[in-house]
Amino acid sequence: MVKQVPDAADIRFDPITLNLIREGIPSIVNPFCLNALEEGLRLKERFGGTVTAVSMGPLQAQDGLREALAIGADRAVLASDREMAGADTLATSYTLWKTMQRIAENQPFDIILSGKVAIDGETGQVPPGIAVRFGIPIISNVTMIEEIDLESQAIVAKHRFDDGIETVRAPLPAVLTITEEANKPRKFTVEGMLKAKRMKVEVWDKNTMGADPDLLGLKGSPTIVKKVFPPPGRKQGEIFDGTADPRAAAKWLIQKLVSVRALGSSQAESLQTPVQITNPSTIVEMLGQPASKIENSEKFGEVWVFIEHLHGRPAQVGWELLGEGKRLASIYGTKLAALVIGNNVEHLAKDAFAYGADKVYMVDHEQLEDYRTQPYAVAMTQAVRKYRPEALLIGGTVRGRDLAGSAATFLETGLIADCTALDVDTESGTFMGTRPDYGGNLMSTIICPKHRPTMASVRPRVMKALPPSPDGDREIVRMHVDLRKQDLNTNVIEFVPIEKIGVRLEDAQVIVSGGRGLGSAKNFYLVEELARILNGQVGASRAAVRAGWIGFEHQVGQTGLTVRPRLYVAVGISGAIQHIVGIMNVDYIVAINRDPNAPIFKMADFGVVGDIFKVIPALIDELKSGGLAELAPWQKSSTP
Ligand SMILES: Cc1cc2nc3c(=O)[nH]c(=O)nc-3n(C[C@H](O)[C@H](O)[C@H](O)COP(=O)(O)OP(=O)(O)OC[C@H]3O[C@@H](n4cnc5c(N)ncnc54)[C@H](O)[C@@H]3O)c2cc1C
Repeated sequence: MVKQVPDAADIRFDPITLNLIREGIPSIVNPFCLNALEEGLRLKERFGGTVTAVSMGPLQAQDGLREALAIGADRAVLASDREMAGADTLATSYTLWKTMQRIAENQPFDIILSGKVAIDGETGQVPPGIAVRFGIPIISNVTMIEEIDLESQAIVAKHRFDDGIETVRAPLPAVLTITEEANKPRKFTVEGMLKAKRMKVEVWDKNTMGADPDLLGLKGSPTIVKKVFPPPGRKQGEIFDGTADPRAAAKWLIQKLVSVRALGSSQAESLQTPVQITNPSTIVEMLGQPASKIENSEKFGEVWVFIEHLHGRPAQVGWELLGEGKRLASIYGTKLAALVIGNNVEHLAKDAFAYGADKVYMVDHEQLEDYRTQPYAVAMTQAVRKYRPEALLIGGTVRGRDLAGSAATFLETGLIADCTALDVDTESGTFMGTRPDYGGNLMSTIICPKHRPTMASVRPRVMKALPPSPDGDREIVRMHVDLRKQDLNTNVIEFVPIEKIGVRLEDAQVIVSGGRGLGSAKNFYLVEELARILNGQVGASRAAVRAGWIGFEHQVGQTGLTVRPRLYVAVGISGAIQHIVGIMNVDYIVAINRDPNAPIFKMADFGVVGDIFKVIPALIDELKSGGLAELAPWQKSSTP
């Protein structure tokens, strides 16, 4: 699958209408689709066969397909019809499925490859939807295809979750989404371009593929965009020119960070005494939201939160969503319920109650020990069909996106991905999800007016968990799930947890990130030393990762991790939009850069203009000696 997207770096909007200005904005092939194409070409080189590039979009999308032909694809098909315009992910997966079904009539396929996400929408929902429609397995976020056995028609691949790397076996045909870790895409050659010029991109309308017009485009889309607006800017921070005196800059910075409690305080916060939560309006107030409520609450279903876990070890995002879910449920005047799916996961019900759930729906089944897309999606679908919640919140993790995309397709409902804010229109009771689009250049508020539940995913660390309250047991609804043999279509061979691979940037309270300004891999020691002293983790810009100075698992940004530490120190990082989108929710951003016009200073709460090779050693020195004495106790004790 090859998607044509506007180049995020050049995106501009009409300031009045907030429409995307298309003229003069270059379109590019979504970078992850190039990874998918590369993987397809490598498979063709190993096993023979053909590579067909498929896309949906306006006629201009032929350009992307022509590029795919120039790179090496054998055939290109574009689904293009006016009635396909305005499609959300459900309608898009329907259209692409119909297109590929039609192709497969004469040319059966073994693998459908797609990029892990498209950089304009970043939802990653279309490939799981296509897998569900074909009734074939999906392996999301593939970092390596280990083995393909054409005789037994099976594939073994490694894929990355937020908490580790899993090796999985699946029967073919299958859908795979490919990460940038998997390969380095080849570029097109002059001969390739000449060949592509002679080839034709096949353009198919709805009749060619036999599509139902009611399921295409806007008509077939459960979600609609209610409004678009520019992203909220951070207020301009304070800048210190440390060019002449780096030590003075270091002292200034430490004093500033201490004054706002950016050093030390968050640890103290996380250790605060649990509070008893009994009154929903108290919670609403705790979360800083107005306690407005809806009339007629009996006509609304419950608010559900999916509790993600790995073999019973919960991901923090579930508790964060319960915190937000509590607020939403109190607006609806309904119950907040946790949906727990797994094997031997009774203990998660207790945790869910402690984090605010009024009720737990429990699907406990021995076949649900490992997370596998299809059986989990089937369990979720059966639970939703039976109990009909109003809204279902899922963590925007790799696992969560994979599950949400599949379940939403089974349920034929709307899924709003990667929301940064959730709310309810108190007049109509409509659930609203707000999310960044076009690489964070624009915010969209999306609703799902006619389908239930509205599903929404939210990345980790965007919402805040309530402090846990050991409040005793509440209602547990145990549910049986019917799993057919064909639902158990993947086998987990191995899982290597992130602890073994190292780094959990998502959980860090302090991150010190290095960029191209460091100049070489060996200079990363400065970033590492500062991170060690601040009891933090090391992050990086994509430029540093691409240069091979540090591993991909450290990358922060659009194609890396979204982080939410208390303190983020950007060392020699310019502040490109693709980096910024990963640090939107950081409490305090510090930038150290010698260029006073670097965009990162527009985001930074505290900026030091100066040479990192002078400022960072001075900062380390000051923290180690006098400066550190001023910090909160946990900081001191964590420093040897
Ligand atoms: C599809 C796509 C996805 C992307 N995803 C990501 C992503 O997830 N994460 C990401 O980070 N980027 C991403 N990028 C890349 C992004 O556009 C930028 O190219 C990248 O962030 C730049 O990294 P940088 O700031 O380290 O390097 P540069 O932009 O080169 O900045 C280096 C900075 O260091 C400063 N500097 C140099 N020497 C010194 C010194 N001695 N002292 C002080 N300052 C110094 C310079 O003034 C400059 O501001 C993506 C791009 C695309 C197209």
